[in-house]
Amino acid sequence: KGPDGKYTVTLIPGDGIGPEISESVKDIYNAANVPINWEEVSVAPILKGGKTVIPDAAIHSVKKNTVALKGPLATPIGKGHVSLNLTLRRTFNLFANVRPTQRESIRPLTDATLQQIVDGVVQSIKLITWDASERVARYAFHYARQNGRSRVTAVHKANIMKMSDGMFLSACRQVARDFPDIQYDEDLLDRACLQITQNPAPFADRVMVMPNLYGDILSDMCAGLIGGLGLTPSGNIGRDASIFEAVHGSAPDIAGKGLANPTALLLSSLMMLRHMGLYEHAGKIEKAALSTIAEGKTITGDLGGKASTKEYTEAIIAKLRV
Ligand code: NAD
Repeated sequence: KGPDGKYTVTLIPGDGIGPEISESVKDIYNAANVPINWEEVSVAPILKGGKTVIPDAAIHSVKKNTVALKGPLATPIGKGHVSLNLTLRRTFNLFANVRPTQRESIRPLTDATLQQIVDGVVQSIKLITWDASERVARYAFHYARQNGRSRVTAVHKANIMKMSDGMFLSACRQVARDFPDIQYDEDLLDRACLQITQNPAPFADRVMVMPNLYGDILSDMCAGLIGGLGLTPSGNIGRDASIFEAVHGSAPDIAGKGLANPTALLLSSLMMLRHMGLYEHAGKIEKAALSTIAEGKTITGDLGGKASTKEYTEAIIAKLRV
């Protein structure tokens, strides 16, 4: 917190629709008098020693502020490019990706290594570490306790992935003993998908914790169930910093047209405000945004409306003013 009573937060507008939806969040925050100064940085990769890296200024800014809001980054397709998202996760030890979709899914740091054995035969190695599993499980239980959830469910495929997912479950079971106030159970990924699509209600008050790949699939499925990628937020919680971002990408098909739905980035920013303890501002903005969507008069095209990003933003701001 600075001498003006405001917090400095790093803002990475990102690619494609990133700048448009970031503008919307900034306008809404101005109208709501949120005590935040944005420190805008670019993470456009630069060449250093023959490798593409994130500019030092961006790294320093996130390190100093420890909290950042990030727009989507386009990952170049082709060999030799590292994913900037992955680089950020590694640089700041972002070990848990929290994706609330009225339900929660949290994923740990795991990795897949691909190997070609001979032409036409490949092997994909799944790497899961005890430390990463234990750490994300502990975070899931903490998150459940802090957010009034009564149960943590570990989602797995240990019937097939006996060693890797088996160890993930062992880590979850061990952590569960330290949280007697939170119930613990386990579910197979496919069965969880079936149950959530048939009847999501029993999942409403629980946190689901699972390895990276399962979290990607399950959270997109949940996004589909609640109205699409324009609505789903996420937070990358780390040891050295936390970076909040929408689940969706840079949406090149609608970039620059003023059509993007800024809700996912806005809700990600509200996770950030709550992470910083600014609950009142978060609640006020959330109410304005959700009631604008519920009314259905001024909503963006992905939700079946006709409003532009700007018109939707103005409708939220009008609600903040009353
Ligand atoms: P995408 O999420 O960008 O788009 C998928 C579809 O959803 C598109 O039709 C798009 O128009 C729509 N959509 C997404 N967000 C929307 C919004 N806010 N409002 C309205 N419609 C929206 O996925 P993609 O096309 O597979 O990826 C595009 C680029 O984004 C790729 O380079 C990819 O690597 C990158 N990406 C980045 C992140 C990230 O930075 N975290 C995440 C996913 C994808």
